[in-house]
Amino acid sequence: MTTANRQRIIVQKYGGSSLANEQMIRANAARICKRKAQGYNIVVAVSAMGDTTDRLLALAQRLAGDQLPPPREADALISTGELVSAALMAITIKEQGHDAISLSGRQAGIRTDNAYGSARIAHIDTQRVRREIERGRTVVVAGFQGLTATDDTTTLGRGASDLTAVALTAALTAERCEIYTDVDGIFTADPRLVPEARILPRIGYQEMLEMASLGAKMNPRSIELAAVHKVPMLITSSFNDQSAGTIIRDWEEDGKNMEIRKVITGIATESNIARITLRGVQDRPGIAAALLTPLVNESISVDVIVQNVSADGRTDFSFTVKEDQLRRAQEIAAEQKQVEYAELIARHGYAKVSIVGVGMQNAPGYAARMFQALADADVNIEMITTSEIRITCIVEQRSVGIAARALHQAFELGED
Ligand code: ASP
Ligand code: MG
Repeated sequence: MTTANRQRIIVQKYGGSSLANEQMIRANAARICKRKAQGYNIVVAVSAMGDTTDRLLALAQRLAGDQLPPPREADALISTGELVSAALMAITIKEQGHDAISLSGRQAGIRTDNAYGSARIAHIDTQRVRREIERGRTVVVAGFQGLTATDDTTTLGRGASDLTAVALTAALTAERCEIYTDVDGIFTADPRLVPEARILPRIGYQEMLEMASLGAKMNPRSIELAAVHKVPMLITSSFNDQSAGTIIRDWEEDGKNMEIRKVITGIATESNIARITLRGVQDRPGIAAALLTPLVNESISVDVIVQNVSADGRTDFSFTVKEDQLRRAQEIAAEQKQVEYAELIARHGYAKVSIVGVGMQNAPGYAARMFQALADADVNIEMITTSEIRITCIVEQRSVGIAARALHQAFELGED
């Protein structure tokens, strides 16, 4: 392969809704052919058509009766959805006059560990894909799947065709990874809460991880992998050709306007949060570990954690969990015998609202501006937590819209 060829590889990924019917498959095949005609080598990663994966899983569950379907067989089953899409896409591309070939995860050399249902990619042997590219073919790879060292089929976790696309981009040192989906890109805030929300032309990887709940539902592992390998990504709509989409890329790579840009990228929100408070906890080393470890061991994700300053050797200890995990979290906290406390208060009906941006840490005043904006909107802050790139407030669920709109306005996110 000539160097010129090598550099001009683009990986495109099409999600289930972009392949839901014949018309969509044709339209996206046409987009692929157009790009090919511009002189690019195209490698495509596809998801299963529409809700195929859900339907296959439901079928397996019914046949497994009271038990969970055996993980190996569940993966053997649901990996077929992507094989169907890949073959159909290759057929359609050929019908439109360009050469194409479909490859399973196995044929594309995608090797994984043996964690069925959420396997991790160990490496990609790109020989076959490269050979097909050299022959001038568009290579359509079945997303979401790989092969263990013992040649068993695995799947990479729900929504993980994105991961296949990013991993292929990195392994092929392709120019970029384009994700075609059913939204126009990544929004500055949830448009259902903030009507003025707009599509971000550009976002960094870390910020994208925080904003992953907004707009395009990206598989978080794919963003992490893209960040590690510095894979430039484009998130855009396969339904709306007018949309320029959002580029995910590190800010430093711009070289210009390094510091002259808006620090706050967007407002992230998350609903259905519950809070557990233990009052009158004895304040001694080890209480946080004793309280939280049993929760984590049951895969309950504990989020915002606040411990108050103690008075008379007693303190209050609060943390948040997802609402649907509240009952179990409450039971575990009540069952444990290591930490004494006076009272357990559990309440749902909270939401998380965050301002997200790289560079907040060294530019003071963002927290103050956030709190002032919430105060002006008459929103009560229940808890506060910060990270390098995020300031989060827990507020009442019913205030989340007002809070998000107030912050969107205070940080002028509706303007370019
Ligand atoms: N079809 C798989 C799923 O629904 C993978 C994907 O959509 O990316 O989870
Ligand atoms: Mg899907």
